[in-house]
Amino acid sequence: MHFLVTGGSGFIGGHLTALLLSQGHRVTVIDDLSTGLITNLADSDGNPNLRIIIGSVLDKDVLEPLVREADAVYHLASAVGVRLIMEQPVSTIETIFQGTDSVLRLAARYRRKLLITSTSEVYGKSEDLPFREDGDRLEGPTTMHRWAYACAKALDEFLVLAHHKMSRLPVVVVRLFNTVGPRQSAQYGMVIPRFVEAALLGQPLTVYGDGTQTRCFCHVRDVVRALDRLMTTPAAVGEVFNVGSDQEVSIRDLAVRVIELTGSRSEVQLLPYSRAFPGGGFEDMTRRVPSLEKIHRVVGWRPEASLDDILNEVAAEKRKILDL
Ligand code: UDP
Repeated sequence: MHFLVTGGSGFIGGHLTALLLSQGHRVTVIDDLSTGLITNLADSDGNPNLRIIIGSVLDKDVLEPLVREADAVYHLASAVGVRLIMEQPVSTIETIFQGTDSVLRLAARYRRKLLITSTSEVYGKSEDLPFREDGDRLEGPTTMHRWAYACAKALDEFLVLAHHKMSRLPVVVVRLFNTVGPRQSAQYGMVIPRFVEAALLGQPLTVYGDGTQTRCFCHVRDVVRALDRLMTTPAAVGEVFNVGSDQEVSIRDLAVRVIELTGSRSEVQLLPYSRAFPGGGFEDMTRRVPSLEKIHRVVGWRPEASLDDILNEVAAEKRKILDL
């Protein structure tokens, strides 16, 4: 098959592209390199089945032939990382909503199957754990920019599902939980690359708030396997799925584990949110755990890599990059 992957040179897109090429498919990537890096496609360099287009999904003239020529579309292009979202609130909303709208209109015109990546942020502050796809969402006020991301992604979901309802367009909505692994940049605020780099350099690991907030971290290799299964399973069409790990860890325990596994002498430092995000408008989520019951039932997927596997792999990669 010929897949279009928007945001294909992002962290997740690069891994997905490599998987699809390894299965013998053709892949066209469109990426504006705003946060993506060509080096995320290094594994696929020189593969004759890969075509890379540097451009924005907001540019309809560029996007139109790409959707037309593809058999199916993975729409991953998005604003990424809490730090960027806090610093660039206008472009976050525009990229998320207008980007999905453009891709969706073309997918509808040419009747192309479309998988879009939404986010676990849509569950917001809900305490109804683990989060089930049909559970209620609880988002904070519009004065807190963080929630703009969740809200824009939720609107994308509504729009995609509405197209499915009105015209039976084959769509799949995926809510990604914290996805980590090799090649993830520390630049956009993600906690694991930041902690591992700090530990290897002997610098303090900065835990925001009191560190009791929890997350579940899933290896990107497991995540792209899930995306592939969801795209190819007919029973997934018209449905929403959580994709992530359900192994919960507090951020403070994560910091301690990173220090242990890397044999570092670094210390853990607590930093109030007001200092981590000095502009204000930030609220964290205290717990975030997916229910994996639905995805396991429909496509038989479960994550395989443990947190230690992930941390060891990320540390090995960072050691090489930092020349340690
Ligand atoms: N975090 C932290 N120190 C950092 C970066 C992040 O304590 O240097 C915390 C952040 O407040 C959140 C968790 O780690 O509670 C995960 O943050 P990340 O940005 O990786 O993803 P999020 O779950 O916020 O989307």
